[in-house]
Amino acid sequence: MTARHGLIEAGGTKFVLGVADGAGRILARHRIPTTRPEETLGQAIDWFQEHGPFESFGIAAFGPLQLDRGAPDWGHILATTKPYWDMTDVAGPFARAFGCPVAIDTDVNGAALAESLWGAGQGVRASVYLTIGTGIGGGAVVDGRILGGAGHPEMGHMGMPRHPDDLGFSGHCSFHGACLEGLASGPAIAARFGCSLSDLPQGGTEQRMIAWYLAHAVASLQAVLAPGRIIMGGGVMATPGLIDLVKAEADALAKGYFAARASEIIVPPGLGDDAGLMGAFALSLTSGRSA
Ligand code: ZN
Repeated sequence: MTARHGLIEAGGTKFVLGVADGAGRILARHRIPTTRPEETLGQAIDWFQEHGPFESFGIAAFGPLQLDRGAPDWGHILATTKPYWDMTDVAGPFARAFGCPVAIDTDVNGAALAESLWGAGQGVRASVYLTIGTGIGGGAVVDGRILGGAGHPEMGHMGMPRHPDDLGFSGHCSFHGACLEGLASGPAIAARFGCSLSDLPQGGTEQRMIAWYLAHAVASLQAVLAPGRIIMGGGVMATPGLIDLVKAEADALAKGYFAARASEIIVPPGLGDDAGLMGAFALSLTSGRSA
C-alpha cells in the first residue's frame, strides 16, 4: 500500500477529514460537526481507523494554538471563546491512536503553505495569504517555511489608522476594538452597514472604505515582508470588484515606494474547494521536521 496521509481541517462548526496519497490526491473524505472535543475527536479517530495505516497526519485547525514543539501543551488549542475547546489537545490523540508523526498549524497557515506550493503563491520567495471573512487571518511563507516563532502571526489584529468618514464606529474586535478585523471583517461590516459588503453599491463609499482598510494592511505587509504575492480570499473578498478597489487604494498609498506594485502582487487564491484539506496535506508533509 502506498503512503497515506491523514488530513484534518478542524473548524469551529465542522471537522473535514480526508485521506490523501503521497501525491495529495484525496482518496476519501468525511465531515463531522464540531461538538465537544471528546465526541468530535473520537468520531474522527473512528473514521480514520477504517482508512489506515498512515505515514503522517496534518491538522489545520482554528486557533489560537500552541505551536512550540518543546512546550508541554504543544498541539493544544489555547484560550478560546469556542465552548468546551479551551486547552484541548488536538494533535496528541491522533499521534497516540496511529503512532505516526503529526503536524499541526492554524488553518490560515496551512492554506498559506498550500497556496505557496500549488496555488497562487508559486514561484516567489515570500508570499502572504490573507482571508477576510467572519474573522481576518493571515499567514506568510518564506522560502517554503511558514513564518512564525512566538506563536503564529495574528495579521487580522494589526493596528489601523481610521478612515476619516468612519470615526463614529468603535470597531468590532472584542480585544482591540478598531484593529483590522474590528474594522473590515464580515461582522464589522454588518455592524456598521447592516448588511454584507456585496449588498452595497459596487464601488460605492462603503466598499471603498473597506478597501481602504485592506489596502493599509497590504501596505504594512509590503513594508515588513516585501512579499512577491499577497493572496486575498475569504467571504468578504468574494464581493465583486473589491479586489480591484484594494489594488487601486494600495497603489495610491505606496506612492511608488515599494519595489513591487501592490496591484501586481495582489491575487485571488489559486486553490478551490479543497484548499482546507490541501492545507492539511501541506502540513502533513512537514511532520518530520524538527522545527
Ligand atoms: Zn483585534
